Amino acid sequence: MLGKEILYLKGVGPQRADVLKAELGISTWQELLEYYPFRYIDRSQITRIADIQSEAANVQLMGQIISTREIGVGGGKRFTAIFRDESGEIELVWFKAVKWLKDSLKLNQPYVIYGRPTEFKGRYNITHPELELLEDARITQGSELKPVYNTTQKLTGKGLHSNGIAKLTRLLVEECRQHIPENLPDYILDRFKLMPRHEAIAQVHLPSTVHQLEGARRRLKFEELFYIQMQLGKQKLSTTRDERGVVFQKVGEVFNTFYQKHLPFELTNAQKRVMKEVRADVARGHHMNRLIQGDVGSGKTIVALLAALLAIDNGYQVCLMVPTEILAMQHLASIQELLAPTGISVALLKGSTSKAERRKIHASLEDGSLPFIIGTHALIEPTVQFKNLGLCIIDEQHRFGVAQRASLWKKAEVPPHVLVMTATPIPRTLAMTLYGDLDISVIDELPPGRKPIKTEWKTDAKRLEVFQFMENEIKKGRQIYVVYPLIAESEAMDYKDLQDGYESIVRRFPMPQYHVSIVHGQMKSDARDYEMQNFIQRKTQILVATTVIEVGVNVPNASVMVIESAERFGLSQLHQLRGRVGRGAEQSYCVLMTGVKISKDSRTRLETMVRTNDGFEIAEVDLQLRGPGDLTGTQQSGLLDLKIADLAKDQIMLSAARELALEILDEDDSLQLPKNSRIVEQLKSIRAKKTDWSKIS
Ligand code: ADP
Ligand code: MG
Repeated sequence: MLGKEILYLKGVGPQRADVLKAELGISTWQELLEYYPFRYIDRSQITRIADIQSEAANVQLMGQIISTREIGVGGGKRFTAIFRDESGEIELVWFKAVKWLKDSLKLNQPYVIYGRPTEFKGRYNITHPELELLEDARITQGSELKPVYNTTQKLTGKGLHSNGIAKLTRLLVEECRQHIPENLPDYILDRFKLMPRHEAIAQVHLPSTVHQLEGARRRLKFEELFYIQMQLGKQKLSTTRDERGVVFQKVGEVFNTFYQKHLPFELTNAQKRVMKEVRADVARGHHMNRLIQGDVGSGKTIVALLAALLAIDNGYQVCLMVPTEILAMQHLASIQELLAPTGISVALLKGSTSKAERRKIHASLEDGSLPFIIGTHALIEPTVQFKNLGLCIIDEQHRFGVAQRASLWKKAEVPPHVLVMTATPIPRTLAMTLYGDLDISVIDELPPGRKPIKTEWKTDAKRLEVFQFMENEIKKGRQIYVVYPLIAESEAMDYKDLQDGYESIVRRFPMPQYHVSIVHGQMKSDARDYEMQNFIQRKTQILVATTVIEVGVNVPNASVMVIESAERFGLSQLHQLRGRVGRGAEQSYCVLMTGVKISKDSRTRLETMVRTNDGFEIAEVDLQLRGPGDLTGTQQSGLLDLKIADLAKDQIMLSAARELALEILDEDDSLQLPKNSRIVEQLKSIRAKKTDWSKIS
């Protein structure tokens, strides 16, 4: 019954069926049942306008729109309305959908609105509130808790706004609540005191009380997290236990000589520990699938290189894949320098490698005479074949898609060991989910002698002070970055800010005593390179730039990073920018400049930056602020398409679900015990639905 096509649900029909499929991927009854509301309006909670006291929480108001106004032109256009209840008035503001609002808003009719107040010049307003005529709000009856569903413009066009969807799910629940099968074993339900599935699904769409709703959500979240962890656990079992791996039996001559004679510094304890973990992996005859996390500058390259030497010692080839040509060239240069005394040859393969050169490299990889290749995604092409690839190292892995990694894997008969490195710290819970099938090593220690960067937050009013500070640093011989935001939507204005900022810096730091470079995306690339080179060669003391400097710049003498309009940057971006300084022996500084009036989230971001240099702590805050989607980019989001759980908020439950999954697999790794039969069924149906995602990560 649950497998029935959505088309055959009363009230759907072919047009709505098409748009449900296209917009939400819903084509069966079951899929609609599992389309959960994203929040609930508690109709018993109506706030009086006069009682709004902070920006902290969303509020629900009931009242009427008494007037509307359209202000501004072009990009600055907005639409406002005055909303009144018996206690007072508040302004509503929209920057989008102006035409639609103009046509559809009804004056002097009772509305229920929902949104977050923001304070502006001592008064509150609400930007982009959700609003609904009171009449419509009453459609779903029976309880004070009204479900709200995510919808889209196309769905709304077919009458499927939140209420339209609510009508369908109500019908559906009434129709088939008796036919919803349980998918967790009874012993799990008992142990974690979980509501039966049919009840949970009914409650989540048609809650009878807050208490029941909470129980329902808890049950469905647990189920969701548990099955993710179960899949990851099984995946990990199959790669570590079943999958054959090449064995790097010995620590040989190349490794030992290098380690004893040519290592330019002593490894940090964290590096040593990770090296040990890698060595244990590659010796045991199973396949290694390991992620190394370490902040910028923590020294991941040397660990990768030592692992490569192990492979070479055992007669295997190594490839190192990186996302950009700049990074590939940097790696080639530093690795070639390190390996010079060993006589081991390394080559570079990138998109722009000439045909002749490419042919030579291909041949030497095929006959095994080239042990070590560094490259961009050019390495993935099927024409690149190895004699005996034993180790794949992937740097900055979050920039590669899963499919790209999988094609590397296929380049050897026995899958090569895989070492993935990332400088984007990922909070533990997120890592558990994103990389639950990988083993994780963390380099949580910076090489000795680095001074922690001092970070300060200054408002624009302190600009003269900041200029004075810059002057003092320049007198000491240091160089300075000044970075401006560049956000696609407000590009024109951002360029103006950059230009204005540049001019005021040039006025304060005039020639011939001072020289200031400027670099941005609208410049021709040779002009940009020229300016960059001037800065690298210390011909200029200040580099004014947009975020183009985020990747691949290394100027150890630069010790000050001034970030303008810092409230507009995300946390991870601020952290990456700050990582541009602190690379030399001198004390480095980061100055975050903002206006006086900034939002609460921005404040949290800035305070976090001032408080800590620890990328993991920063990532954790970022996760809390933004949720997991943004943090990881879209490439990995397949797994994170969570229907109801929230990785930022449900961390404790996630850990419990993970422990349970591991415990079950530990006892019953092939899931043969009768008590686990529901798990087997559920995993089967999950598998039937989704396309296989790669064996690497
Ligand atoms: P990342 O982890 O960002 O890739 P790198 O591997 O590029 O970092 O290392 C950053 C810098 O630190 C390099 O110049 C490297 O030579 C140096 N380095 C790495 N490990 C150590 C160490 N144990 N002691 C001193 N310097 C080190
Ligand atoms: Mg690196």
